[in-house]
Amino acid sequence: MPATASNLRDLHHLHQRARALRDRLASGPKTIAARQAALQVRHNELEAAKKALQEAKVQLKKHEHLLQGVETKIDDYKIKLNQVKKNEEYKAIQNQIAHDASSKSKFEEDILLAFDSIEAKAREVARLEAEVKRFTDEVAALKKQVEEQAGAQASQLRELETAIIDGENTIPESHRDQYRRIVARYGADALAACEDGSCLGCYTAVTAQVMNELINGVSLSFCMSCGRLLYLAEHDVVATRRGG
Ligand SMILES: [Zn+2]
Repeated sequence: MPATASNLRDLHHLHQRARALRDRLASGPKTIAARQAALQVRHNELEAAKKALQEAKVQLKKHEHLLQGVETKIDDYKIKLNQVKKNEEYKAIQNQIAHDASSKSKFEEDILLAFDSIEAKAREVARLEAEVKRFTDEVAALKKQVEEQAGAQASQLRELETAIIDGENTIPESHRDQYRRIVARYGADALAACEDGSCLGCYTAVTAQVMNELINGVSLSFCMSCGRLLYLAEHDVVATRRGG
């Protein structure tokens, strides 16, 4: 006695549920990998921001050094100013002091700007540090969740696989090879319902002979067009019973 429409329908559903579980099991690690890649991007941004802050501090040191230099120079000129006798020499030194004083105010301005820049860059580092921390926690929580779900999903999948093997035992030995071939080709959709005279796998009308086979249920029927193992759709089974 070959498998009934109801056996085959159940087998089809088991295959579909197993596929959905396999898809979910595969998608978890992919999601984690994507989040980890996004985390790495933020890590890199943080490293770049830290480097920029370091450079801004070096820049500040340079400006402070320049300021110190020009201040020493001005002090030296002021001492000289007290020592010179000639008026023109006095004037020349005064000009020099005026020139250096303008450099000094420029350096002072640079220092203020450098302080602002350091402050802004330090804020950016703090912001990115908080973001990396939050992201790291999120990825860890997601990983934990996916791993926990994966355990339950894997045991559910094992149960389904056992049920599929049981379901396959209803397929007559003579058709097993053909069945294996279409499973290899179509996976979970190796079976298809035949509804209103059409295969729902490829939407092609089945022949009258196949329809008769399905109604009589004496042997297994495969779609002539796509090769899927056919079973009568639920409402067609009911209609056939009513008709007969
Ligand atoms: Zn078909």
